[in-house]
This record gives sequence, structure tokens and C-alpha cells, in this order.
Amino acid sequence: MFDIQADFPILQRQHQGEPLVYLDSAATTQKPDAVINAVSDYYRRSNANVHRAAHKLAEEATTLLEDARTLVQGYIGASDRREVIFTRGTTESINLVAQGLQAYLKADDEILITALEHHSNIVPWQMLAQRTGAHLKVVSVDSNGDLDLSDFQEKLSSRTKVFTCNHISNALGTINPVAELVRAAREVGAITLIDGAQAVLHEPLDVTALDCDFYAFSGHKMYAPTGIGILYGKLARLETLPPYQGGGEMIEHVTFETSTYQQPPYKFEAGTPNIAGAVGLGAAIRYLNELPLAELVAQEQNLIDSALRQLKQIPGFRLVGEPSKRSAVISFILEGAHPNDIGTLLDQQGVAVRTGHHCAMPLMAHLGLPGTVRASFSLYNTAYDVERLVKAVDKATTFI
Ligand code: PMP
Repeated sequence: MFDIQADFPILQRQHQGEPLVYLDSAATTQKPDAVINAVSDYYRRSNANVHRAAHKLAEEATTLLEDARTLVQGYIGASDRREVIFTRGTTESINLVAQGLQAYLKADDEILITALEHHSNIVPWQMLAQRTGAHLKVVSVDSNGDLDLSDFQEKLSSRTKVFTCNHISNALGTINPVAELVRAAREVGAITLIDGAQAVLHEPLDVTALDCDFYAFSGHKMYAPTGIGILYGKLARLETLPPYQGGGEMIEHVTFETSTYQQPPYKFEAGTPNIAGAVGLGAAIRYLNELPLAELVAQEQNLIDSALRQLKQIPGFRLVGEPSKRSAVISFILEGAHPNDIGTLLDQQGVAVRTGHHCAMPLMAHLGLPGTVRASFSLYNTAYDVERLVKAVDKATTFI
């Protein structure tokens, strides 16, 4: 049994007189000392603006930022570091692409998404459809929470100009067959974007082998700070995609009449970047690179299986979603109780979960639920956390 909990100082906290059990990692993960110290050291030793000034601190800050880019490149298997763009997170990465494709889409083109998407992979496409006259098509999901692959095949056509889906659903934990979906979408000539927000810790990632055009994720879901994220894009795509924002850093030459832009990735990085966030992301990747990730993910899977087995024994427990491949999320309701009340009852027992629609309102509407209770795991969770979750849910049922 690998136990990395001691690396995360916040997980040593007590809540309600007992060790805090944190099962909300799909919302954001906790941070290890390695990341906290790297961010603190950056501000204590090397803080300066990047790229521009010719002094020692600026040089150090620039090196730290660019080292982080190289670490990300290695972690996701990008073939070129120019394919790694720093953003604020998954949401900004998706908006960057959706806005950039405005001139590419025409009226009656189609954008294909899925019913499993997070709002951040719905709304930017909806806005793009409104601006261009393109149509948003949605692949349906079956009662287990798996994508309906025959519906995907039916809705995919030469009119499909963009296909996007999440790698792992944050609401139900479904691991989508992204390699198969990307392959099929590429065959009809669609641009592909994968929302990897929930996948970067739980699935081995090789964007080059996956062959998607874009892959978006957030640092804060993988032990790094909030406010830093990544857009991976194939270099050829990035070269033709127009810039997202104008400003400093992204230009080559500016006159009042017109401007020329830098090459990727800088073309997409207007303004001062979140340097400390990038340093933290680099530190998170260094930390992850030292861990036996495959073993930790297998261990996490065992914990989830064990939690599911025990939770299903509790009268009134109803699992929401039985996907054929599940990642680190258990969504459920207790018969006769509102999910928010269950969340409060669990919090009173020192167990932190999330309740509500999980930014997937259309999915909840499809399931006919106001929301669910979601226990989400990360590599630092232990058998003790499962024991406390099961006990807390069992006790909650006595209040209903
Ligand atoms: N997509 C998925 C699947 C997510 O889980 C999340 C975060 N909950 C996002 C997108 C948005 O990520 P962020 O808020 O970090 O931009």
C-alpha cells in the first residue's frame, strides 16, 4: 500500500473532531509540500516578469516558466514544446479554441459534443454556434452513463467540423473511449478537442498517440495551483488558429495601423502569465514523475470498488451511473433526501463531498435528477477514507 497522504499538509487537518476526509478532488485537488514550497520559493527568490528584462531575476523567472512548459510537454507526450500553451485552466483553453474557430465555421456546419459535458465544454460551443450559424449536435448517453456509440456514429458526418468530448466525466466518472472517438471524428475531417480536466491524474496520457488536435486541462486538478492550465494543440493547427487575446508578449511588431504576431505558443499568451502557477504546475509534474503512478491509480481503483461494494449495501443508496469504465467518481443519491442535505450530513461527520449538478445541468435534466452527491477520489485517499465515507452515508440514512 502506497500512502502519499503525508505529503499533503491540509490532509492532516481535523474537522468535527476527526481527521478530515477529503473526497472532493474532482472539484480541486489538494497540494503537496513540493508544490507549496516551489511557489513560495519562487516568490522568495526569483519573482520578476518574464521574457522582457535583461536582469538576473527576469532570467530566472523565464527559465522557471519555460522549464514548466518542458515538464508539461513530457508529461502529456507532446512532440514539440511549442504545442504547450499556458492558460488559466480548462475553461480558458476551450474558449481559446472555440473563439479561434469562428472564421473557420460556416452556417449549417455542425459541432458535435456529448451529453456528458461540463458546462465549460458546452457553452463556448453554443456561443460559437450562435455567432456562426453552425448547429450544435449532442451525442446521447445511455442509462448507465456511457456514451451511445451508435448515436455518435449517426450524428458524425462530413458536416461535423468540430468534435469534442471529455476524457472522463466529472459528474459520473465515465471514462470515454477517446482514442476510438477521435479516430472516427478525424476520418470525417473534424477538428477534435478533448477536455482532459478529470483525466490528467487518472489516465496515462500521450496526446501524440491520441492524435487529437487539442487537449485541455487545469493545473488545480493535478496538485498544482488554481489559475494555471494548459491547452495542447498540434503545431500545424496552432499556426493557423488566430490569437485569442491581443496585448503584450503575443506580438512581433506593432504599429497603429496593424500588428504582426509571434509564433505559437506566445501568440496565445498575451499579457503577463501566471508565472507562480506555472512554477507550481512544473513542481506538481516533478512530484508526479517520482510517484509509482500506475500502482497508485490501481490502488485508487480498488478503493473505489470497495466503496461501491459497501455503499450498495446501504438501504436507500442509489448509485447514479454504472459506466463500463469508471474513474475516481462515485455519484449517488439517497432515496427520499435532497443531495444538498446529504452533503451537510456528511460534512457534519467530517467527510467533504460535493453536491448539486456538478456543472452538468443538461446531464442532470436527462437523468431526471436535481443533482447528486459526488464523492471523488485522488491518489492520496486511503482505505480509512472509504471506511469513514461508508459510515457517514450509513448514518445519514438514519436522519432521512
Ligand atoms: N471539464 C471538466 C470535465 C471538469 O471537471 C472541469 C472542472 N470541474 C472543467 C471542465 C472546468 O475546469 P476549470 O474550472 O478548471 O476551468
